[in-house]
Amino acid sequence: NVSRPSATSGADELFGGLLAPGFDRRTCLSRYQSPHYYKHSPYAPSPHLLQKLRDYEARHRKCGPGTPLYAKSVDHLRSGSSSSTEDDECNYVVWIPYNGLGNRMLSLLSTFLYALLTGRVLLVQSTDDFTDLFCEPFPGGTWALPPDFPVADMSRLGARSNESYGNLLDDKKISNDLAKATAQSVPPYVYLHLAHDLRRSDRRFYCNDDQLVLAKVNWLLLQNDFYFVPALYDMAEFEGELRRLFPAMESVAHLLGRYLFHPSNSVWGMITRYYHSYLAQAEERIGVQIRMFSWASIPVDDMYDQIMACSRQEHILPDVDGDEANTTSAAANGSSKSKAILIASLRAEYYERIKSTYYEHAAEGGGGVGVFQPSHEEKQTMGQRSHNQKALAEIYLLSFSDVLLTTGISTFGYMSSSLAGLRPTMLMIAKDHKVPETPCVRAMSMEPCFHMTPDVKCHGKEVNKEELSRHVKECEDVPKGMKWI
Ligand code: GDP
Repeated sequence: NVSRPSATSGADELFGGLLAPGFDRRTCLSRYQSPHYYKHSPYAPSPHLLQKLRDYEARHRKCGPGTPLYAKSVDHLRSGSSSSTEDDECNYVVWIPYNGLGNRMLSLLSTFLYALLTGRVLLVQSTDDFTDLFCEPFPGGTWALPPDFPVADMSRLGARSNESYGNLLDDKKISNDLAKATAQSVPPYVYLHLAHDLRRSDRRFYCNDDQLVLAKVNWLLLQNDFYFVPALYDMAEFEGELRRLFPAMESVAHLLGRYLFHPSNSVWGMITRYYHSYLAQAEERIGVQIRMFSWASIPVDDMYDQIMACSRQEHILPDVDGDEANTTSAAANGSSKSKAILIASLRAEYYERIKSTYYEHAAEGGGGVGVFQPSHEEKQTMGQRSHNQKALAEIYLLSFSDVLLTTGISTFGYMSSSLAGLRPTMLMIAKDHKVPETPCVRAMSMEPCFHMTPDVKCHGKEVNKEELSRHVKECEDVPKGMKWI
């Protein structure tokens, strides 16, 4: 029960039917409580999406680990014999975690959508650092891949693996010529290497005809670190269905993120303790995510100046009294609302500076300003569960903001904005370690950016490119990245 002062009372517990009822509340408190914390829910799920999710849940119950159909498919795989989806009632896509938490959440979400579109069951390889982060999302079954899964040592899979789709094509062990493909027998599993170091032939995953071939494969193992949803719209096989599922194109990650991700009770405890101790009392919460990439680093002073210049330009942080440069924005902003500024960053310096600013100067309009930072881990650490739990807690705390200022290119920031249902203002990234001329931009949509374009020549049926170009734009923060608006 969260009848707390600033959690939205009366919020729809199941997000307008997005979430299925019938879970044991105690096992996953966030599932029922998080709707009270979000400040924006701009898109309701379409009836078609709701139907598709309920169908998916039924499929997962029928085919998931522990069921006779799962055992049968695994037997097939263990025997190593060529098979085809026609022999098996259930087909699977196994997601292999890779890279930081934001990357993982975006690629997992994309893989779930791929499973929805292709009638597969999504299973997740649970590495130690990826456990006790999220609750089970599907009623009556687990998404965790059982440890006795017959493909041994999946962490060895990479661009060079013989079982990768690209290498299978290059070695002529599988054909994407549709005339041959219908008759050919395909391997029991194919590894899809879609991470940033993918090769040219791996990119064929993004072609319509290749999808028709992959549809014959019983088990797909997929590793990537991108939000690849925008490329799914570019395949005739999926485009129409995607439009029916998401009439508002910028709602994909927003709705699927809220459907799929529910912080575990341990992480939810961190989130709610922090929220009620520091943020709940404020009338407005401003989330600020500051990410300094080593390949684009600038001095702390310069970054602080960039944040302040952006804030003045977009009226994000409260202006301070006596700052002449701010008089115009102060007039536009002048209110006496109490505000909480939540800083998420690996470093403490920005928090220290922003906190000092509001200690040394009064905010215009006189409202109280609190500045808070839950952690400063100093550096990104791989493979450590407690580090990932803090990151997840902060992604969620940011997503409960009224206003968001995030860092461009950062998937951590993308995920908070999509969950929040907000188009963030994004800090631009330094080029050649020089402060960018434009400090920040307002995002065109709350959809994350796909950091690469598939850039592959495909054969076969194409989507209407003119229609496509109206909705797909180059990302504000990543040249050559694709984004839906
Ligand atoms: P990206 O690299 O910004 O796209 O985001 P990722 O989430 O994929 O990877 C960055 C990782 O660094 C996170 O998952 C965290 O482990 C860590 N990290 C980066 N920024 C923060 C932060 O503000 N707070 C916390 N707790 N961890 C962070």
